[in-house]
Amino acid sequence: MKFATRAIHAGQEPDPATGAIMTPIYQTSTYVQESPGKHKGYAYARGKNPTRVALEKCIASLENAKHALCFSSGQGAEDTIMKLLRPGDEVVATDDLYGGSYRMFTKVFAHYGIVFHFVNMQDAQDIRKHINSKTKLLWVETPTNPLMKIIDVRACASIAKESGLMLVVDNTFASPYLQNPLDLGATMVMHSATKYLGGHSDVVMGAVCTNDEKIYEELAFITNSCGPVPGPMDSFLVLRGLKTLHVRMQAHCKNGKEIAHFLRQHPRIAKVHWPGFEDHPNHAIAKSQMRDFGGMISFTMKGDSMEEAFRMASSTKVFSLAESLGGVESLIGHPASMTHASIPKAEREKSGVSDSLIRLSVGIEDVEDLIGDLKQALDVK
Ligand SMILES: *Cc1c(COP(=O)(O)O)cnc(C)c1O
Repeated sequence: MKFATRAIHAGQEPDPATGAIMTPIYQTSTYVQESPGKHKGYAYARGKNPTRVALEKCIASLENAKHALCFSSGQGAEDTIMKLLRPGDEVVATDDLYGGSYRMFTKVFAHYGIVFHFVNMQDAQDIRKHINSKTKLLWVETPTNPLMKIIDVRACASIAKESGLMLVVDNTFASPYLQNPLDLGATMVMHSATKYLGGHSDVVMGAVCTNDEKIYEELAFITNSCGPVPGPMDSFLVLRGLKTLHVRMQAHCKNGKEIAHFLRQHPRIAKVHWPGFEDHPNHAIAKSQMRDFGGMISFTMKGDSMEEAFRMASSTKVFSLAESLGGVESLIGHPASMTHASIPKAEREKSGVSDSLIRLSVGIEDVEDLIGDLKQALDVK
């Protein structure tokens, strides 16, 4: 079946007890057993919960995966993936990375003896220089956050394959509607379901999908052992959000495109980062691995002043100044002081996140109102 049908139906059957069309919120921690060890597959809710199972099946279906696991947050998902590694193992990761991922890698897992290399992967062949006998995993984010760089997932998959590495793609920015990394050769795809999957800024959740049985078993074992599972209410909210993922993404893409072009011709704007521009450095790769270009845009203003960026980001009325992305409402953010504040300034600037960079998560409001809002905010001097 095609995407929209799966988004609405996959993993979901009418409730066997009542016929309820919506998956019930199974707010329970445990399940009654017939005799010790004899039960219907559910023993304790850290291991399994029916609302969560329905959600996992739906996300797996949208990522063309055999298996999905859901987590209490995107970071909970990443933490579980990192626990597949052992002290001494090495990871090569995209340099333009979600700030929280960078913080977890360098401030938590580095202490457990895991070594990280941060590489500009715009030319995927550069990854090879950082691979050695200890390398176990490639961590790729594409489009990258916040510079909207595009990494060639097929090229990364072939490098991973020839060196026997796992390839993880953080697919949060694209969502499965725009990009399916497992189809391009990734071992695992990871989501902050907080963003486009949930889509309404009312829940924090993470997900990992894979077609590899062994990796799935190990991730499920770590999850059940360590416990970063989402609750049934949150699982219900994301399951409901998924039902409109395709319609929301179409609207995000349409508005994103108009706003990217509006910003590009504005006299106060220096540079707009959006993979849909034909002169984006990896536009051809974006076209070959994404179905459209999404609603995430970043830009710098002429003069590159932090003060002016602050003024602009504080002057919008429809765009709300907030962390996060992927909800129906438009958000504006200043990465250097918000989402990426945990990355040291020198490291940040090396990868191109300057003090005047502003990031937009374009929502699905009327685009005339969004453009009008940006226009008036750019006029504030
Ligand atoms: C938000 C985000 C995360 C972390 O997810 P949480 O749900 O906030 O824990 C990871 N990667 C990307 C790209 C994100 O935007």
